[in-house]
Amino acid sequence: MAIERTFSIIKPDAVAKNHIGAIYNRFETAGLKIIASKMVHLSQEQAEGFYAEHSERPFFGALVAFMTSGPIMVQVLEGENAVLAHREILGATNPAEAAEGTIRADFAESIDENAAHGSDSLASAEREVAYFFSAEELCPRTR
Ligand code: ADP
Ligand code: MG
Repeated sequence: MAIERTFSIIKPDAVAKNHIGAIYNRFETAGLKIIASKMVHLSQEQAEGFYAEHSERPFFGALVAFMTSGPIMVQVLEGENAVLAHREILGATNPAEAAEGTIRADFAESIDENAAHGSDSLASAEREVAYFFSAEELCPRTR
């Protein structure tokens, strides 16, 4: 299996509830290595740009308002099959449909405030990593 990189956000709801460490623990337990990480508070423009693919959806305004409502943690995760592995431990977009033991099942309240984001493909991961991190900020693991 290929070593991949994927992009992750701990969203404002989960940061506000002090779940950063618990969610990082899920990543590490799943064998995903954090190779870059920072806290940011998105501007309206940054949130709109990040979610541009959803700009025509009815929930877009609420999504941008939520994502700018407080600080978030953004990180790059590296590991075998990282894109899919990360989506699997996240669980379904709607926490009510997320499998038992997934991050969204355990830490999210609703589809509007669903605790975390994960890239949905390698192409998305490349775009999303570059949206938040310069190449110098990534620290690939040699051990
Ligand atoms: P995912 O985050 O699982 O990749 P999407 O890319 O489809 O899901 O949607 C991006 C984000 O927009 C979701 O994580 C969720 O916060 C929000 N969202 C998606 N669908 C809805 C919906 N029907 N109602 C409200 N918010 C939604
Ligand atoms: Mg998505």
